[in-house]
Amino acid sequence: MTLVARYSMAYKLQCDSCDLERECTDWADANRDARDHEAEYSDHWVTIHELQRA
Ligand SMILES: [Zn+2]
Repeated sequence: MTLVARYSMAYKLQCDSCDLERECTDWADANRDARDHEAEYSDHWVTIHELQRA
């Protein structure tokens, strides 16, 4: 099992155009949420930040 390594990383979504801010523990989830938001608001740009957790 390598799940521990996966969950030591987190991803923070931040939208440049509104106050959207969300944390995901999964890269695929973070990407999907960012895509969904940009699809819903076509003039918004979502940045995904990697958060290093101790
Ligand atoms: Zn937005």
